Amino acid sequence: MRRPLIAANWKMNKTIGETETFLFEFIPMVRDVKDADIVVAPPFTSLHSASLLLKNTNVALSSQDLFFEDKGAFTGEVSSVMLTDVGCSYAIVGHSERRQYFKESNEIINRKVVASRKHSLNVIFCIGETLQEREAGKTFEILAQEVAAGLRDVPSEGISVAYEPIWAIGTGKTATPEQAQEAHHYIRERLSLCYGNAAQGIRILYGGSVTPENIDVLMACEDVDGALVGGASLKADSFAKIVNYKR
Ligand code: PEP
Repeated sequence: MRRPLIAANWKMNKTIGETETFLFEFIPMVRDVKDADIVVAPPFTSLHSASLLLKNTNVALSSQDLFFEDKGAFTGEVSSVMLTDVGCSYAIVGHSERRQYFKESNEIINRKVVASRKHSLNVIFCIGETLQEREAGKTFEILAQEVAAGLRDVPSEGISVAYEPIWAIGTGKTATPEQAQEAHHYIRERLSLCYGNAAQGIRILYGGSVTPENIDVLMACEDVDGALVGGASLKADSFAKIVNYKR
């Protein structure tokens, strides 16, 4: 049985004050949730204040990215050592916006996954196809490539995969439950090639226009083990409704 994981990706949103306002509201709303892992990923500037507020709660802290070296002359970058130091226990790696706008290759993403695990950060490893790739019948090919390259030489412990079809991110176009289940089932098959039976224990999250209205049908799919939520995670009541989806 895989324990559900519901994660908020705030992207480049919220000042420190806005982060605190959100958490003051949100933490009591999910205090009684015992059967799922809850994660929030604020921007780097809010991590410290979020970390203080999340102490002794059931909400874990994640970064949205990291650099693969531990320290050194890498202006503007933040390492997994620094993230564990500030209180993160998760890192999102390989988000499609990093791949698209910052030209992160599968190889760079693999180095980031390795660096995260070296310092015991749980990884939310993102993969997904563009609309063009889906329409060209290349969805499975892309997913297979991204899984094989991104997770090369990485043991399965501490890894979750987020399937985020790029055409569904921030567009209001959610994958149907059938599309999500088909992709998740395929991803689990590819994970089995790397990890054998351990693939059954790896959580595969869905991401792409998840809302309080569509979370129940997505979570009802056999291979959907959680959600990575962007837009609908920016308001405390909306994200709390998603966390409190129908079990
Ligand atoms: C995301 O950025 O990971 C995401 C899924 O965004 P949204 O929920 O807004 O589509």
